[in-house]
Amino acid sequence: MTQPVLERTLVMLKPDAVARGLVGRILQRFEEKGLKLVGLKMARLDESLVRRQYALHQEKYFYEPLVRYMSSGPVVLAVLEGKGAIAVVRGLMGPTFGPDAPPGTIRGDFGMSKRFNLVHGSDSPQAAAQEIALFFAPSELQDYDAAAFNWTYDTSTGEIV
Ligand code: UDP
Ligand code: MG
Repeated sequence: MTQPVLERTLVMLKPDAVARGLVGRILQRFEEKGLKLVGLKMARLDESLVRRQYALHQEKYFYEPLVRYMSSGPVVLAVLEGKGAIAVVRGLMGPTFGPDAPPGTIRGDFGMSKRFNLVHGSDSPQAAAQEIALFFAPSELQDYDAAAFNWTYDTSTGEIV
């Protein structure tokens, strides 16, 4: 199956990002890159949801602390759209651990911890589809014209370049 030209990805600003007052600055990174915001909300994830979301880490030593971390306070959930959005978002986030992440990335600029790392982004088209469906009803995803679209990409050839 061919992937759509514009991808959507789920971003979560984790409880440390909310508690540290970094929501606006982190969302700004994504907006100023040219990603289009199509969904946004605040939520408190209950433990069973976190357990499901991170089920693939179940056997890891950090699973229980990770579950505690992710259910310890509210998060902000966003759906972002753009060409190659999944990889672009992961690039802006940086490697998993803030102390190792290069300056210029979100984790590199704002994080000191090898657990509290501010942000989650879907890591594949399958994960993105599943995570978006988990947190957003279709009616919560907004369809609108981003005014800068034709200056974010070259659309003059009929393609989005
Ligand atoms: N994590 C941790 N210790 C580790 C690895 C990961 O506490 O050794 C946490 C960290 O918050 C990370 C999350 O578990 O974001 C999920 O891990 P993953 O390897 O999927 O990293 P990510 O995709 O978030 O970069
Ligand atoms: Mg991951």
